[in-house]
Amino acid sequence: MAIDPKFEENRDVADEHEDHRVWGPVDEPEQLGIHGTHVAVDFDICIADGACLEDCPVDVFEWVDTPDHPESEIKADPVKEEQCIDCMLCVDVCPVDAIDVDPGRAGRL
Ligand code: SF4
Repeated sequence: MAIDPKFEENRDVADEHEDHRVWGPVDEPEQLGIHGTHVAVDFDICIADGACLEDCPVDVFEWVDTPDHPESEIKADPVKEEQCIDCMLCVDVCPVDAIDVDPGRAGRL
């Protein structure tokens, strides 16, 4: 299952984390929602592959600890999504399609 690119319509903002939105539902530690809006990472799909951290040219992502999450115990958090240059490398390299980038959402951070 890939990230829902229409998450803005289908989910509600549940929280804020590192200056970005978290789209619910959130029920820690098993359910963590989608982090970010311009650069959105579905934490419930992320398996901590790390390709996005390695390939992002402007270092948008940092690891965050997510102990006891069923998919992985760290996640790629889009902590600097405002720096994104929309190259789409992270979207292309993610093996589980956990990331959606849409510059049309950039103004709605
Ligand atoms: S689209 Fe490019 S610049 Fe933006 S977060 Fe992904 S890899 Fe980084």
